[in-house]
Formats: sequence, structure tokens, C-alpha cells
Amino acid sequence: MNASLPVPVVAQPALPIVGREEKFPVRRIYCVGRNYLEHIREMKEADERDPPFFFQKPTDALVSDGQVPYPVFTEDFQYECELVVAVGAAASDVSADEALECVFGYAVGFDMTRRDRQRESFKRGLPWEVGKSFDHSSPCGAVHPVAVCGHPATGTLALAVNGQRRQQTVLEKMIWNVPEIISQLSRQYRLMPGDLIYTGTPDGVGAVVPGDRLVGTIAALEPLVVDILPVSPHPVHR
Ligand code: MN
Repeated sequence: MNASLPVPVVAQPALPIVGREEKFPVRRIYCVGRNYLEHIREMKEADERDPPFFFQKPTDALVSDGQVPYPVFTEDFQYECELVVAVGAAASDVSADEALECVFGYAVGFDMTRRDRQRESFKRGLPWEVGKSFDHSSPCGAVHPVAVCGHPATGTLALAVNGQRRQQTVLEKMIWNVPEIISQLSRQYRLMPGDLIYTGTPDGVGAVVPGDRLVGTIAALEPLVVDILPVSPHPVHR
């Protein structure tokens, strides 16, 4: 280690865009805490009538090449397959009716979670960052422009580990749909081009180990394939 000027500039994370040479530059990563009834029930941690809440992951937690090292500081590393909204225009305090105007496209993403740390945080009333917002915790697939995929509001969301189906639902089961999520989030933050919104996961979450291959599929989007690599004590950003 040798810190001296000039301090190197770290490149902005970006995602490929289906059918385009340009990349989608990622600004912020927002996540919805609870958005499918069966997942709230399996977690047993919330009143089913609670409104959803939002949390963030650091932008450089994004993984665009499907390679996720098993993280330090957990013995219960879990997947959550989610529809990801890619924001392409600024939006502040928008209604659900006008919310979709700011959407550039959609992708398949995994909200990777240190479940043991998240449960401890919940039990002790502490912030969730240690369980949610760590290096390599946001693998995401290519962004499909709305012109390519429309606004997926129906269809299957599924995740398999080593070929075994673990999660399966339909997008219609979201408690809060995409326009409602954008509307609510835009009252808390000014959404900007480059923002990603992970829209919550259904039931069936579970742990993975190094060597596992995760495949997430949502409606007609290209599947997201993620390989869990051996523990990397000092993750190197690519
Ligand atoms: Mn999630």
C-alpha cells in the first residue's frame, strides 16, 4: 500500500445495454425492502400491512460480469432475485400515473444479502448496511430499453441454483407495482438518470456457497447468470 498524489480516479460502474454499444452509467442503487407477501411471511419480521421502505447499496457494489466472490463477515450469504428498474430521466415527487416516463429500461438483478448480519441488525434495531450494502452485493444483468421490452408488469420471476428452482412468482404479486414504487421513492429522493431500483424479492430466498451458479429469469428479459467464487478477503474491483 502506498498512498500518494495523484489519488487514482475510480471508474463509474456501468451496465451493458441490450442491442447498443453505449453503456448505462450507474449513479445510485436503491432497493425496496418488502414487496411480496410470501417473502414477508418467510422472514417473519414485519407486519404485512407495513408500507415498503427503501435502502441503498453503494454504487460500486454493482457487479456486471456475473462474478461474485463469497463475502467476508458472513456465514449465511443469500440471493434475492429482483426486477430492476433503470431510471433514465430526473423525477421528483411524481405521481404513479406519470412515473413510467422516467424509466429507461429494465434488468434482472440479485440483492445479495448477509442474512445473519441483517437479522442481527433487525433484532437490535441497528442500520442494515452491514447486511445489505457491501462489496459485490449488487449483481445486475444487461439493461433492456423500454423500446425493447416494454414495461414488464406480468410474467414469471424465477431463480435457480445449480439447476434447482428456488424462487418462483409472477410480477403481478408485487405489493407495490413499479409506478407506485417510483412515485413513493421520488418523494424521498430526486431520482436521476443512472439510478437503479431493485423492486423486492418473493419467497424462496436461501444461502449459497462458493461454486454455486445462480440463474435469474424475469418475463422476457435476458437471464442473469452469477457464479459464486471462493472467499475473497480483499475484493478487487474490476
Ligand atoms: Mn431485496
